[in-house]
Amino acid sequence: MTTKTVLVIGSLNMDLAVSVQKLPHQGETVFGSSFATFPGGKGANQAVAAGRLGAAVKMAGCVGRDGFGADLLEGLQASHVDRTCVEQVDQSTGTALITVDAAGANTIVVVGGANWACDAAAVDKALTAAGEPGILVLQNEIPQETVEYAIKAAKAQGWTVIFNPAPARTLSRDIMPLVDIIIPNETETAVLTGLPADSDEAVIKAARKLLDQGIGTVVITLGARGSLCCSGAEQYRIQPYPVKAVDTTAAGDAYVGAMATGLAEGRSLRDSLEFASAAAAVAVTRAGAQPSLPWRKEVDAFIR
Ligand code: ADP
Repeated sequence: MTTKTVLVIGSLNMDLAVSVQKLPHQGETVFGSSFATFPGGKGANQAVAAGRLGAAVKMAGCVGRDGFGADLLEGLQASHVDRTCVEQVDQSTGTALITVDAAGANTIVVVGGANWACDAAAVDKALTAAGEPGILVLQNEIPQETVEYAIKAAKAQGWTVIFNPAPARTLSRDIMPLVDIIIPNETETAVLTGLPADSDEAVIKAARKLLDQGIGTVVITLGARGSLCCSGAEQYRIQPYPVKAVDTTAAGDAYVGAMATGLAEGRSLRDSLEFASAAAAVAVTRAGAQPSLPWRKEVDAFIR
C-alpha cells in the first residue's frame, strides 16, 4: 500500500496538572494533593494519533531548549512521529497549567511560549522536507499568519489541507476557499458562523454557511452524537460507536489524526470518517489526552 505523508504543523505543550481540594482565591496558598505532567498541544496530539495508527507522519513546530521540550520530542518518537522538523528555540516550551478541585472545577493558564515562534520559514522547511504533497493538518495554536501561510503554500504545491479551527478563530476571507476540509466541533462551529449549533437542523445550517465561504468539505464533530459531513450537495451523518465514555479529552484530536491517516492511505472520505469515529470512540474509553490515543491494532480489534 502506498501512503501519502501526513504533515502536522502545530502546537506542542506540556500540561502540568495539579489536584486541589479547593481552588485558591487571589493571594491564597493551598496545598495540592497531586501533580503530574502530560504531553499535549493539539498539533502534537493529532500527530501522535496518526503515528499510532500507522501513518507516515511528520510534525513541524517549536519547543524550547528545556526539559519539557526534550520530553515532548521523545514522546513523538515513541509514537512513530518524525520529529526532524520540530525546532528547539530560545523560548520556554508551551505549557498549560491546570488546577482541578475536588468537584472537578478547573482553572487553566496556557502559555504558548515556543509555539509562537512557529513561522513561515518553519512551514517552508517542513513542506520541502516532506517532498511529495500529502495531507496537511493544521489547528489554531500557532500564529494565525503561519496557519494562513501554510494553507496558501501547501495548496499551491498540491497538498490536501485539513483545518481544525481549535480554539475557534476565523481565517481571512481569501484563505477559507483554499481549505479542503474544515473540522470544527459544535462550539467552534457556533463561533465561526455566529449561528447556534445545538440541534441537527442548526448544525446543517451552520455547515452550509461554512461551505458558502468556499470550503470544499465541512465535517462537524458532535461529541457523543457522532459527526456530520457536508460536501457539495452531499450530506451524511457518521454514527458514533456506543461506548462507555471515561474521559472525552482529545476525542477530537483522535478523530482528526485518524481521518488524516485514512485519507493518506487513499481511503474515501466517508471511510476515513468511519475509521476516525472508531479511533475517537476507543480514545474516550480511556483517561487522559495522549495516553488515551489508540494504536492501530487496538482500533482494528475494536471495529472487528
Ligand atoms: P472535541 O474533542 O474536539 O470537542 P468531540 O467532542 O466532538 O470533539 O468528539 C470528536 C468525536 O469523538 C465525535 O465526533 C465522536 O465520533 C467521538 N466521540 C466523542 N465523544 C464520544 C462518546 N461519548 N461516545 C462515542 N464517541 C464519541
